Amino acid sequence: MNASSLPDDLRVFARDWLSSNNLLCLGGEPALIDTGHVKHAAETVRLVEQALGLSVALSTIAHTHLHSDHCGGTAALQAAYPSALTWVPKATLPHVQAWDEDALTFGDTAQRCARFTAQRALTPGQTVRLGQRDWQIHAAPGHDRLAVLLFEPLSGVLLAGDAMWEHGVGIIFEHIEGGNGFTAFIDTLALIERLEPAVVIPGHGVPFARADGAIDAALTRARQRVAYFADHPAQHALYAAKVLLKYQFLDAERMTRPALRAWIDNAPILRRLHRQHRPDLLWDIWLSQVLASLSDKGALQQTDIEVINGL
Ligand SMILES: [Zn+2]
Repeated sequence: MNASSLPDDLRVFARDWLSSNNLLCLGGEPALIDTGHVKHAAETVRLVEQALGLSVALSTIAHTHLHSDHCGGTAALQAAYPSALTWVPKATLPHVQAWDEDALTFGDTAQRCARFTAQRALTPGQTVRLGQRDWQIHAAPGHDRLAVLLFEPLSGVLLAGDAMWEHGVGIIFEHIEGGNGFTAFIDTLALIERLEPAVVIPGHGVPFARADGAIDAALTRARQRVAYFADHPAQHALYAAKVLLKYQFLDAERMTRPALRAWIDNAPILRRLHRQHRPDLLWDIWLSQVLASLSDKGALQQTDIEVINGL
């Protein structure tokens, strides 16, 4: 099987870098896994309605992890399909039920997500019925300490979330939080290799297949990148700061300087990244250097009063 020949009952909605990809599992109990960013929630509902038709309801909403680009459409889907059951990784279920924004990381990153509810836990070691298939649930720490990945052994399809991309690696949040994130990320890559998937559906970017050599190549690239970050953790902190700022600009599109400053003050993770990258620099100097590097790359236009996303 190559990446363009997924089984007919599995449909990938490849989204942009603000929204994650979504996987729609048809037949049986129709399910959507990962729901994109809240900014694109109406579009996510429209994509699902268009694929299911008006006479079929979505039964299940599930998540690889609860970053704001993977669960921002969940509230809108729950409104459109009130009988749907919502699944989240087991360790995050109490955080969702209490809507603890700090535990859910929206507080730390000052990212927005519409409040939703969840009733079911994705427990590593168990399986979950999505559409007409039984999917294995595996813990996938590294990018996110509490993430899971889903693997369907008959088709060999693996839904990786942000545990693996074809090119590059996501932010290793577990390291920023003080955990052993680099090792966890490498262990998750080893798990993916052991599962021998035929196709990987990443959280961002298009699916890629073993038959094309793309999975082996992606594993090699990811291992090299994580090893580089493990040797140069300050560079990982700089990468993470840039990604988080770009993400905010993709969401806001344009911000006044006072609004940007207020947002930064509300995102404690940036203070930790400053300490991990260049504690020798004063905070304001560090911040202006990171913003200037984004402007140099054309990612931002900075005027006297506004910072404008130029992506
Ligand atoms: Zn993501």
